Amino acid sequence: MPRRATKIVATLGPASSDPDLLEQMIRAGVNVVRLNFSHGTAKDHIKRAGLVREAAKRAGREVAIMADLQGPKIRVGKFAQGSVLLAPGQKFVLDAARVELGDSGAVGLDYKALPREVKAGDVLLLNDGLIVLTVDAVKGEAVHTSVKLGGELSNNKGINKQGGGLTAHALTSKDMEDIRTAMSFQADYVAVSFPKSATDMEMARQLCNVAAAEFNHRPGLIAKIERAEAIPKLLEIVLASDGIMVARGDLAVEVGNAIVPALQKRMIKLAREHDRVVITATQMMESMISNPVPTRAEVSDVANAVLDGTDAVMLSAETATGKYPLETVIEMAKICHAAEQHEDIAFEANFAGKTFSRIDQSIAMGALFTAHHLGAKAIVAMTESGSTALWMSRQLVHVPIYALTAKVATQRRMALYRNVRPLLMDSSADRDTALTEAENHLKNRGIVQTGDVYAITCGEPMGSPGGTNMLKICQVS
Ligand code: PGA
Ligand code: MN
Repeated sequence: MPRRATKIVATLGPASSDPDLLEQMIRAGVNVVRLNFSHGTAKDHIKRAGLVREAAKRAGREVAIMADLQGPKIRVGKFAQGSVLLAPGQKFVLDAARVELGDSGAVGLDYKALPREVKAGDVLLLNDGLIVLTVDAVKGEAVHTSVKLGGELSNNKGINKQGGGLTAHALTSKDMEDIRTAMSFQADYVAVSFPKSATDMEMARQLCNVAAAEFNHRPGLIAKIERAEAIPKLLEIVLASDGIMVARGDLAVEVGNAIVPALQKRMIKLAREHDRVVITATQMMESMISNPVPTRAEVSDVANAVLDGTDAVMLSAETATGKYPLETVIEMAKICHAAEQHEDIAFEANFAGKTFSRIDQSIAMGALFTAHHLGAKAIVAMTESGSTALWMSRQLVHVPIYALTAKVATQRRMALYRNVRPLLMDSSADRDTALTEAENHLKNRGIVQTGDVYAITCGEPMGSPGGTNMLKICQVS
C-alpha cells in the first residue's frame, strides 16, 4: 500500500463490527474509527471500543477512536402506523402538546420548544430536507403548516429550520453521560454535535476536564459544524476546539446544498491556519452503501477535499451499515493517494508571512523549510504532546513526517493529522542515545536507508512537553 497523507475516518456499525473485517479495514487504511453515540447503549460502545483496540493491535496500526455525541434531538414524535405519507399542499400540524400517536393530520414533538422558536413564513425541513413544510401559524403549542414537498414521514425524524434558529443546547444530559463513557475507554477524540458557539465547546471541555483526573485522560475535541448559526461564529468555535468536522449532512439542510462546497473550502483553510485539524464528512462515497464502485462525482468529491487540504475524509453509513465497507475504504484510500500526487505545494508562499512566538513552533517550521528545500527523505519529530507534528502538518509539503513518541495517547491522537505517521518509541533520558535509537527505529522500519538525509527535531532536556528546541539534519550512515 503506497504511503497516504490524508487520513480516513470510518464509522463503526453492524456492517463493520466483525473483528476480522474490522482488522482488514484497518489494514486497508482506516486511521480513525468513529463510534456514533446516536445509536446503541454505553455498554455497546465500550464493547466496540475494545474491538477497535484489539483489531488495531492485530493489524499493528495506530488507530484513534472518535466518540461522536448525539447532541440535541430536534425531532417529531411517533406515528400510530409508524409513518404517514404527506402530499404537497395538504395541511399538517406539529403539536408539542399532543400525547396520542401521530396521523396524517398531526404529530407530537420530541422537541417541545419548537412552537416558541418558529413563526408564520418559516420553512421547516424534515428527514434531512426530503420533506419541506412552511409554517402558516403558531397557535399555542401547535405549529400549523402546509406541505410544500411531500413524502413519507416516519417516527422520530429530525427537524431543521431553514437558516437556523432552533435554540436547543448542544450538550444534553445524555451527552454528558456519554462523555464519561467515552473517557472510560480513553476515546482519543470526542465530537460535539450541533455547537452554536465557543461556549458549547468550552462546556464540553469542562466536562472532559472534570473527568480527566478520574480517567487520567484528555481527549481532543472536535466541533461538528452543522448549524447555520455556527457559520458566523466559525473562528471562535475553531479556537475553542482541537478540530472541526465539516458535517455536510445537517449543514446542507440548514444553509442549502449549494453553498456547502464553498463553506467546506473556507472551513478547511481556517482550521489549518489556526493549527486545528479538520475532517470532511457525509455522503463522500454514499453510493457504495449499495454498490461496489463509487460514482465519478464521489471520486471527485473525495479528491477535492484532499486538494482543499483536509486532514481526513469520513465514511458514515458506507461503513456502518453498507454492503461494501472494506471495498469503500480501499477505494477511498486510492482516491486520496492519487489526489495527493497532484496537490500544489502551498508552503513557500505562506512561510514568509509567518511569525512565531514559541521556540518549539519555530523549530518545527525550520525543520519543514529545511527538509523541503533539501529534498530530505523524511522529517522526524520526537514529541511528547504531538504539537510539533501538528504544526508541521499544517503546511502542505511532500516530505513525509514521522512522529516518534513514548506516549500511546499522543500516538493515537496524531493518527488524525495529515501527513503524519505516528510511531511509538521508548523514551531515553540522553539526547544522543535517543537520536541514535530514532535512526535505528526508522532504518528497521525501512523508512530511511544508508545515504538518506532526514531532518529531526527534539528537546533538550528530553521528555518535557513543549520543550522542542533542536533541529538536526542527519545523513544515515
Ligand atoms: P451526523 O453528522 O452523521 O451525526 O448527522 C454529520 C453530518 O451531519 O454531516
Ligand atoms: Mn449531523
